[in-house]
Amino acid sequence: MTFVSEKINTLPPYLFSEFQKKKKNLMEKGVDVIDLGIGAPDLPTPDFVIDRLVEEVRNPLNHRYSTYSGTQEFRQSVADFYKSHYAVDLDPDTEVLALIGSKEGIANMVQAVINPGNTVLIPNPGYPVYRTAVHLAGGNSVDLPLDESNGYQPLFNQVSKKDSESAKLMLLNYPSNPTAATVNLDVFLKAVSYAKSHNIIVANDAAYDLVTFNGYKAPSILQAPGAKDYAVEFGSLSKSFNMTGWRIGYLVGNKTVIRALSTLKSNIDTSQFLPIQLAAATALKSDLKAVEANNKVYQERMEKLHEALNKIGLEAEKPKGTIFLWAKVPQGYSSASFANQMLDRAGVIVTPGSAFGTTGEGYIRISLSVTSDRLDEVIKRIKNMSWQ
Ligand SMILES: *Cc1c(COP(=O)(O)O)cnc(C)c1O
Repeated sequence: MTFVSEKINTLPPYLFSEFQKKKKNLMEKGVDVIDLGIGAPDLPTPDFVIDRLVEEVRNPLNHRYSTYSGTQEFRQSVADFYKSHYAVDLDPDTEVLALIGSKEGIANMVQAVINPGNTVLIPNPGYPVYRTAVHLAGGNSVDLPLDESNGYQPLFNQVSKKDSESAKLMLLNYPSNPTAATVNLDVFLKAVSYAKSHNIIVANDAAYDLVTFNGYKAPSILQAPGAKDYAVEFGSLSKSFNMTGWRIGYLVGNKTVIRALSTLKSNIDTSQFLPIQLAAATALKSDLKAVEANNKVYQERMEKLHEALNKIGLEAEKPKGTIFLWAKVPQGYSSASFANQMLDRAGVIVTPGSAFGTTGEGYIRISLSVTSDRLDEVIKRIKNMSWQ
């Protein structure tokens, strides 16, 4: 008998491992590999957040278990952030739940709300966790139709009648990984109206909510009138405050969904380490100047790389947010073959779009998580590649 469950055995293979092997081989040969495949910030966590952590770590009361749903100060700071940033009212006791990073929350939320066989509408291309979470919960992933020519906006009216009727949950992700697509509030109004007419839950993954450029402000799905009857939103400190390793995020919105996830989680974990929650509260209560400073860094990198890539003939839309460029591969290449060329001939790692779903084919995702100087080197190397 196999020691491994069918669920695990039938998970789709992890596409990045092959590239990592190749990277290791090249580096052992002395090649200076530049990794633009990593979907995480390279900048440090702001000092004032670290200061609060250090202070709270010294307090023995903080060495105990947190309450399951997260400590009051953290949940209140999330509610206050939603009030000041989005003008959305949240009850910190019933409409906010602390998460050990939003990835955990997404995977567990799917378990907490669907039954085996239920349909879940997910973006394709999209963050791979959505599909695997649905798989682990025994659900059935169906692609949410996206209008690629119009910046990957969802086409709710193109979901088939059968899928609309069997759907229990729809996942959205704006600002988006991997496409860097952003939306205005009207898309969320349509999403909530779709959820209402089909009586389904809609969850927006807002991991890049604050990572935006040029005055663009990403809306919250909870700004749509009546959203709390159907919608939840995942937030994370990982990208906005450079806190990926800290593992802290939250779910806000619909009480029933929050209670269901809280019940599931209370049987699995006992929330995050209190000093981490308190430091995160300090981050959310801040004036967000640290986030603005980060965004400036990302925007400069983005502008530089975007301009250079388009000159070289690698077309990409100019994003209003996230830490990615989503570029078309040249004619005659697949996502994977071009990503391989970039590694073999330029020593640059990018992620093939196909790693994010079938409709990611024809694209590569380029992460902006290296310094401007390294990007100059990337540009020089890609120019010398000449793939025509
Ligand atoms: C990085 C990322 C997450 C995960 O964030 P954590 O809070 O660190 O778990 C979730 N969704 C998307 C789209 C991401 O890119």
